[in-house]
Amino acid sequence: MAEKRDYYEILGVAKTATADEIKSAYRKLAMKYHPDRNPNNPEAKEKFTEVSEAYEVLSNPEKRQRYDQFGHQGVNFGPGGFDFGRDFSHFQDVDLNDILGSIFGGMGGGGFSNFGDFFGGRRQRRQVDPNAPRRGDDMTFRLDIDFDEALFGSERDLELTLPVQCPDCGGSGAAAGSKRVACRSCGGAGVVIGGSGFFQVRQTCPTCGGEGSVIEKPCRKCRGSGHVTAPRKISLKIPAGIDSGFRLRLSGKGGGGLRGGDNGDLFVLIGVRDSDIFRRDGLDLEVDVPVSPVTAALGGAVAVPTPDGEARLKIPPGTPNGKVFRLRGKGVPSLRGGSPGDLDARIVFEVPVNLDRRQREALEDFQKLVNGGNFPEAQAFANRARIFFSHRDKLKR
Ligand SMILES: [Zn+2]
Ligand SMILES: [Zn+2]
Repeated sequence: MAEKRDYYEILGVAKTATADEIKSAYRKLAMKYHPDRNPNNPEAKEKFTEVSEAYEVLSNPEKRQRYDQFGHQGVNFGPGGFDFGRDFSHFQDVDLNDILGSIFGGMGGGGFSNFGDFFGGRRQRRQVDPNAPRRGDDMTFRLDIDFDEALFGSERDLELTLPVQCPDCGGSGAAAGSKRVACRSCGGAGVVIGGSGFFQVRQTCPTCGGEGSVIEKPCRKCRGSGHVTAPRKISLKIPAGIDSGFRLRLSGKGGGGLRGGDNGDLFVLIGVRDSDIFRRDGLDLEVDVPVSPVTAALGGAVAVPTPDGEARLKIPPGTPNGKVFRLRGKGVPSLRGGSPGDLDARIVFEVPVNLDRRQREALEDFQKLVNGGNFPEAQAFANRARIFFSHRDKLKR
């Protein structure tokens, strides 16, 4: 799959770049790749488009912020239903739980959610014919799910408010009896050329907002946008093994198309809440298992929770605190049908508390029987400390 390049990378600026730095980087690159300077050079033309797109986003504080948080919208994955992309390099800087937590914080386990918290999809390419069909916007919806849902998969019924074609004007945006006409500011191109002298900048036409057309008299219901919002129920199947930062694509479930155009796609950006048992790293899981030091000393069986159920882990006599036992294949199932990850069970000693008299006496009896060979670490440590103090005595003399 072709991954869109990072806008900062395209402009060759840091993520922390100021507006002036972005502008100056853009000017330099736009100059270099401008089609007028590179006639019959499709590569330069492509670069110019890429650079302009990056600038369009990064020069707009609102868009830039959105991009910083969520990266490119509407990245195309393979055809068909759900797609599992893992290449969300631009999500990696983002603590999704922070973002998602603030939005879905009070949402609880499941059921319906009705949050109008989409962030816009990419606009379609402008059309010269104002009455041509227009594909609906790709929409992204953020959904926070429980750790267990991510592990085992689940189904969610979402009730989303999505843009659909306005029933009054049929998506034209024009009131009955009026129509869309080509924008006179840009001659229908949707862009105007600004700047001065040699250097020229293509800007979205301010009159028509890039549409290339304006409405004589806007439809009252949709205020000329051609869209109204309507609730739509969507059944979402969350596959087992999904992780934070994944996006599920539902083809044709996004914003409604206009004038016969296809619907856009709906992307569901997944955030996974933490587990109170497991830590997850990719497909691998890690769990801390509290174990009595007595069991660890004598050896024995320890119950370990795994996604497949409880596993009985045999630990040998003399198992040290912090020892990790790898349970192969007991991690997270693979989305792509590969083998599941592993589960690392870490032994964590729990020192017994609330001892009664007999227990205390038993430990005291044990303590009387202890010799240096029982605690080789402590013995080695005491030796090292002795050497340290003898050095200290020599040097401080
Ligand atoms: Zn309308
Ligand atoms: Zn215009």
